Amino acid sequence: MVNFHHSIQFILNNEAVSTDVPPGTLALDYVRQQLQLNGTKSGCKEGDCGACTVIVGQLDAAGKLRYLPMTSCLLPVGELQGKHLVTIEGLNMPALSPVQQAMVDTGGSQCGYCTPGFVVAMTAGLMEPKLPLNAKGALHAISGNLCRCTGYRSIKAAGLQVIEELAHKLQAGDRVGSLVEAGALPDYFKGIETRLQAMQPDPGSPAVDTPKGEKQGPRVIISGGTDLYVQRGDELPHADVVLLNNRPPIEAPELRQGRVCFDARMTFEAFAEDPLILRHLPDMPAYNDLIASWPMRTRSSIGGNICNGSPIADMTCLLLALEAELTLSGSDGRQRTVPLREFYLGYKQLNKKPDEIVEEISFPAFDASSRVNWEKVSKRAWLDIATVNSACKVRVEAGLVTAAHLALGGVAATPLYLSQASRYLEGKPLDAASIHGCIEVAMGEFTPMSDVRGSADYKRLLARQLLLVHFEKLFPETIEQEDLYAPLR
Ligand SMILES: Cc1cc2nc3c(=O)[nH]c(=O)nc-3n(C[C@H](O)[C@H](O)[C@H](O)COP(=O)(O)OP(=O)(O)OC[C@H]3O[C@@H](n4cnc5c(N)ncnc54)[C@H](O)[C@@H]3O)c2cc1C
Repeated sequence: MVNFHHSIQFILNNEAVSTDVPPGTLALDYVRQQLQLNGTKSGCKEGDCGACTVIVGQLDAAGKLRYLPMTSCLLPVGELQGKHLVTIEGLNMPALSPVQQAMVDTGGSQCGYCTPGFVVAMTAGLMEPKLPLNAKGALHAISGNLCRCTGYRSIKAAGLQVIEELAHKLQAGDRVGSLVEAGALPDYFKGIETRLQAMQPDPGSPAVDTPKGEKQGPRVIISGGTDLYVQRGDELPHADVVLLNNRPPIEAPELRQGRVCFDARMTFEAFAEDPLILRHLPDMPAYNDLIASWPMRTRSSIGGNICNGSPIADMTCLLLALEAELTLSGSDGRQRTVPLREFYLGYKQLNKKPDEIVEEISFPAFDASSRVNWEKVSKRAWLDIATVNSACKVRVEAGLVTAAHLALGGVAATPLYLSQASRYLEGKPLDAASIHGCIEVAMGEFTPMSDVRGSADYKRLLARQLLLVHFEKLFPETIEQEDLYAPLR
């Protein structure tokens, strides 16, 4: 067991809290076991069911408070320093809130185990200005919640009822304030921003992950924790952890020397909101609809996706096609840069020392002559990991392919950059014959394995189809569907 210098201070519902529990302790275990706040339910403990959903309020770099839903089963307490943790108990008022009342009115609760998670997620959806106040927004809010007995019809009806009741009362610029005015959130929410500002540590004060005494084995680098807690959930509360999210706030991505550079801790959700990223990847929000769920994307970092080394990591596949590079720094302060396509040495084997942290990710900026597409096929359309995914970036000038970068996931031990197929296309006319030639080369670059997600033959078929789909989607004005698919039938 590692001991820690100082306590973790945050606001839990309406109470200021200070605790000495190890920083890697799960927020779920902390509220249930230490504080007996048992409204937050422990379900799958893998981020899938949403029964443990909480809302976390955090000040941004400008000192403005933003609330996002998170699964407390994958959230380390150490990260709550200076933040506002809201559990279902913190949403209670003398009468039922409009969300709670809507769940009652529509029969949205049966055994009740999932109900607190749904209420918290729906409330988070109302608090988040980016979510539209309509059916789409209501569904987005509960995208990370599973109900196994009530069925979704009545829960969706509850979401719609509450939006109908509140939409005209909510101001885009101040959802939280107007929810308080509308009696949908307790009054204490009004004072939280000021209370959090007063709690912020002096710049330069040590992070809460600093261990006391001798080092005990390698430190575990935790970013969003969404892979780590699923894999090593029992061990991390007692481990010596480095909480990357407790370091200085994440700055917005920037253009530097012709490259789009961003902090590796950026979450999938933040990535898809950033104007510079959206200028290059306008379809990123649509890609995100196929990646995890809202409460998971508010935690999952891009650096974590890369360093977890999963062959089907969605963002890694996209970044391979974008020619991404990683900047790593070691505990000795030394920095080095590695192209992402040289980062994987074998299954979950990385070109990285255990103490090295991926600090920054960058990719070359590009203009409209380059087009990007990302595709994913999974067993379920939503909330599932990929069977096969693929991405491509192709530059075409005067009818000729002048640069091509193709990537595949789920067909090898690592995420795969198709170097031969990419090279094959360069200098070729953009037509069906070149694409068929490229795909033939690509099919020689990997040998998939059969597993629970599909047979090797099925994966080969998916890979071929996804590579074709890129060209169909990206160049509809040049490539006829018939020419692309007919020879393959
Ligand atoms: C319910 C659920 C759904 C999911 N759905 C998807 C999905 O649809 N698509 C998908 O691709 N993934 C999915 N994932 C997997 C996971 O969310 C992603 O891989 C995520 O990007 C991991 O990021 P993280 O910040 O949580 O990583 P962590 O769990 O914090 O870390 C993962 C690994 O990377 C290391 N690490 C993290 N950041 C750094 C860094 N900056 N430098 C060095 N090492 C680092 C850690 O030490 C650890 O070994 C899902 C996970 C869950 C639980």
